[in-house]
Amino acid sequence: MKVAVFSTKSYDREFLEAANITAKTNHEFVFFDTQLNPKTTSLATGCLGVCVFVNDDVSAETLKLLAAQGTRFVALRCTGFNNVDLKTAKELGIKIARVTAYSPFSVAEHAAGLVLMLNRKLYRAYNRVRDDNFSLEGLLGFDLHGCTVGIIGTGKIGIIFAQIMCGFGCHLLGYDTFPNPKFEEIGDARYVQLSELFVKADIISLHCPLTPGTHHLINANAIEQMKPGVMLINTSRGALIDTKAAITGIKSGKIGYLGIDVYEKEDNLFFDDLSDSVIQDDVFQLLQSFPNVVITSHQAFFTRNALTDIASTTVSNFTEFEQDRPLTNEVFYQPPVLATTSA
Ligand code: NAD
Repeated sequence: MKVAVFSTKSYDREFLEAANITAKTNHEFVFFDTQLNPKTTSLATGCLGVCVFVNDDVSAETLKLLAAQGTRFVALRCTGFNNVDLKTAKELGIKIARVTAYSPFSVAEHAAGLVLMLNRKLYRAYNRVRDDNFSLEGLLGFDLHGCTVGIIGTGKIGIIFAQIMCGFGCHLLGYDTFPNPKFEEIGDARYVQLSELFVKADIISLHCPLTPGTHHLINANAIEQMKPGVMLINTSRGALIDTKAAITGIKSGKIGYLGIDVYEKEDNLFFDDLSDSVIQDDVFQLLQSFPNVVITSHQAFFTRNALTDIASTTVSNFTEFEQDRPLTNEVFYQPPVLATTSA
């Protein structure tokens, strides 16, 4: 099956081609560096399948253009599908599939890495020592042991993050619209209402999907309820946090530490080398100017284990579609339900 693969980097080509060989399939992957959007759909002319990543624009406009060219299947190389207009896809008869699961350890371990970066200021210590500055002034940290960690979203990644933090001796509070019985089997973990989590947690980590109901889940009102000096970690999706509200919280001292792997306007920034450019996003530039903020560019998934899983599931998704078999990882349109985001 001929597939236009958008937003590709060298590692996407390498892992997808390897998975194609391992699975003994003959998908013809045509790789494009560019993102998919209404201006680039013509690159997929003649391709029954299209393969996209987190920041590709799979909006109604894009889907209509793809459909007119004969594309019938879009496979995401990721779990989240917030960038796809599922309603329009359904109306156009375009099927959508994703990678429902891949090494959840990759993201959970990265979230834990951000916690450690921040609580021991490792990012500052690294730069200092390279500069022959061996002073400890300003590097004072705190023990994770005994801290209360609030985990919002206790699915595949949230559960593993909970296990890791339990290993540090943390108390665990969880919030999930669909509680997972495995969560309360970990250490002293217990589910609470969101408002209680906000009030009691020293560290809050987001592991729920971005939906209309979770958009700006962390807003000014939520931040107001949090402990002074709280640590906020987001490895899920950028728009879970209202960035401007977070900046206000950092400036007031309410947020003591912010570690993010995702940013709500990341599609204009992440995955490219912009070191020679003048960044036009003032909010992002202000955010990264703070000494208590660590940003990584959506790399939590980026382990060889996860890339192997992603490529093999993506190849299998195309094979199932080509052979007209039921799609194991199909994403169906569901009318939006506003999730409960407060107590
Ligand atoms: P999952 O589906 O296994 O778990 C998500 C959990 O969130 C579920 O238990 C669900 O019930 C819960 N949830 C849904 N709505 C909620 C709400 N309003 N409030 C609280 N909980 C809610 O997904 P996962 O594999 O654990 O992935 C979690 C998220 O991580 C994904 O949605 C994706 O956005 C993000 N992710 C990021 C990266 C990265 O590289 N940074 C990689 C993979 C996934």
